[in-house]
Amino acid sequence: MKGFAMLSINNVGWIEKESPVAGPYDAIVRPLAISPCTSDIHTVFEGAIGDRHDMILGHEAVGEIVEIGSEVKDFKVGDRVIVPAITPDWRSLEAQAGFHQHSNGMLAGWKFSNFKDGVFAEYFHVNDADMNLAFLPKEISLSSAVMITDMMTTGFHGAELAEIQMGSSVVVIGIGPVGLMAVTGAKLRGAGRIIGVGSRTACVEAAKFYGATDIVNYKDGDIVKQIMALTNGHGVDRVIMAGGGTETLGQAVAMVRPGGVIANINYHGSGEYLQIPRVEWGCGMAHKTIKGGLCPGGRLRMEMLRDLVLYNRVDLSRLVTHEFKGIENVEKALLLMKDKPKDLIKAVVIV
Ligand code: NAD
Ligand code: ZN
Repeated sequence: MKGFAMLSINNVGWIEKESPVAGPYDAIVRPLAISPCTSDIHTVFEGAIGDRHDMILGHEAVGEIVEIGSEVKDFKVGDRVIVPAITPDWRSLEAQAGFHQHSNGMLAGWKFSNFKDGVFAEYFHVNDADMNLAFLPKEISLSSAVMITDMMTTGFHGAELAEIQMGSSVVVIGIGPVGLMAVTGAKLRGAGRIIGVGSRTACVEAAKFYGATDIVNYKDGDIVKQIMALTNGHGVDRVIMAGGGTETLGQAVAMVRPGGVIANINYHGSGEYLQIPRVEWGCGMAHKTIKGGLCPGGRLRMEMLRDLVLYNRVDLSRLVTHEFKGIENVEKALLLMKDKPKDLIKAVVIV
């Protein structure tokens, strides 16, 4: 079969590989829609997880089952499924401890396009189908459905990690697709004021649509000063980091109030350290909590998010600004995610 792969750092291209086969608990899926992630950009063009050779890219897909393992109970060939970016080993101690994202090793629940071939191929393999696939109903479009697999679960996780309460004031740093879903999750959890930090017109418009009450442009100068000015010098209760470089942690520490929570869902793809400013962190005594997490995956999570879409609580169609037809266009879609033109939020390829 053909797959679109990372050949080495900075190099991508089409390769031929053996088609995958299903073990007793697994499924083989043919993608119906796929989407490149900014994380693919960190992986390929920044070498963020080290070198990979001939590894098929992509971890955002919905598809149709073409082969099913003998022990799989709930799914059959022909079913249309949502495939989470994170497909953990549910029989692991980390999963029992509540952190399936790290099943059998830190970040190891993230398999596709990390240490296993991804979804930009004619076929791909899904471990533990009963636990990692979710049914995709006809009512949800393919391009919206593929946004559930990573963008929605990640952005919503930002809102969860930030422990947003009713009326919390929130800053979301970075309003690309992940940040936009953080805005959406914050609103659903009852945030009061939501300040989005971003610059591209498409993202700013979408942030307002999803619930941002204020926008700060990081190109207009120091975002800490801008947010302090907006909040009469008090700062905010919660900060979700969903874009920008390593400097954003220091900015988040400076703009969050004592007792506040910072939730990072950004993938820091370069640099050796993230730095915490000592004074703004109350010399270590400010009760400012810093958390960070990989998005949750698995079937239950996908089904719960899917129902938010199915019952019209969340409209994912605003995320998809570029739609291609034909898997051969996946390279174009990936390069769009690298170049980030002003009108782009997210690109989808309908296979
Ligand atoms: P994106 O590049 O589309 O969006 C990030 C936004 O941040 C951009 O719109 C950019 O304008 C803005 N930005 C850049 N510099 C900034 C600054 N100094 N201050 C504020 N904003 C700034 O990316 P995305 O697709 O939305 O993904 C966001 C991050 O989340 C990426 O690093 C991605 O790899 C990561 N990610 C993490 C997970 C996870 O599980 N935690 C999952 C998916 C993606
Ligand atoms: Zn991703």
